[in-house]
Amino acid sequence: GKVLVSGANGYIAVWVVRTLLENGFSVRGAVRSAEKGTHLTELFAPYGDKFELVIVPDITVEGAFDEAVKGVDAIEHTASPFHFQADDPAELLEPAIKGTVGILESARKHGKSVKRIVVTSSCAAVMNISTTPQVLSEADWNDQAVREVEEKGRSASNGAKYRTSKTLAERAAWDFAKKYKDEIGWDVSVMNPPLVVGPIIHAVASPDSLNTSAKMMFLAFTRPEASAGGGCWIDVRDLALAHVRALEKEEAGGERIIITAGAFAWQDWLDAAPPSSKYLKGNPGAGKDHVHLLRYKNDKSIRILGMEYRSMADTAADTIADYEKRGW
Ligand code: NDP
Repeated sequence: GKVLVSGANGYIAVWVVRTLLENGFSVRGAVRSAEKGTHLTELFAPYGDKFELVIVPDITVEGAFDEAVKGVDAIEHTASPFHFQADDPAELLEPAIKGTVGILESARKHGKSVKRIVVTSSCAAVMNISTTPQVLSEADWNDQAVREVEEKGRSASNGAKYRTSKTLAERAAWDFAKKYKDEIGWDVSVMNPPLVVGPIIHAVASPDSLNTSAKMMFLAFTRPEASAGGGCWIDVRDLALAHVRALEKEEAGGERIIITAGAFAWQDWLDAAPPSSKYLKGNPGAGKDHVHLLRYKNDKSIRILGMEYRSMADTAADTIADYEKRGW
């Protein structure tokens, strides 16, 4: 079948495209400009006409995906801003929500052959900030961030602004699917990953222009002040495979699924790097003292998608090898 991937030039999306192609799918990658597609055209040239580009200049415009959805069997909607630089929350909320509702609306009207739409949400739409340790599951929703943005607007924290964009976009997807369930020939499956790390295959000129999550990892390995704290993680290649399985497994329809390998302290990554690594070593072993306030269950991903998660050692080795290859 043929799959439309929105935001196809992004960190996660390029891995999703590659994994789809490796698994026999054809891919139509949507990017904002022809220029943003050149790296993809080169990277996926070996797949010949199994990979094509479509230009969607502005995902917030009504009907933006009307042409792009025609003739595809499924959609992977990954396009959404992920950064912590917005002053006005609308900078994040508008493309996140309108982009999601817009692609679903285009599929409703013009996606006659679409069977499934996978939406890349986030653990940002699940998490809550708490002062006591908690383990969250797919039953949890991040209403906390939404309230903060409602109450504080521009002065809400940058984290809350991003998390609100993901929470409201995911909610909008579920609401849309429910509202039109009797007239649409497709269902929705949602992926909820925490911090995504691992090697990069999208176009990045220098570490400065890395996407948010890959940059956090690079900084942890190169700046002493960046290796405090921790979070939960997933290898980008495992997340890409989850996106493919979410199309293949009937039971993934109508489900939101947390995709995570577990929790980390940044120091754990420094410890997991190969002994030959020239990057920072930090304070070996100190990661065990990190208090993990937030963990996520991943049993649903194992049950429905058959996920087997990479180890920190594998992800660290491949990430370091990637930096070295680039001369970073
Ligand atoms: P990237 O920044 O690498 O990719 C984001 C993609 O979305 C790019 O293709 C980008 O296009 C597109 N995009 C961003 N803003 C807009 C906009 N206003 N209009 C149209 N397109 C836009 O990030 P990731 O690969 O990390 O993120 C992909 C998805 O994964 C997002 O939905 C993100 O929320 C989600 N996610 C990411 C996590 C992570 O740790 N990386 C964790 C959990 C979820 P362009 O290049 O043209 O700007």
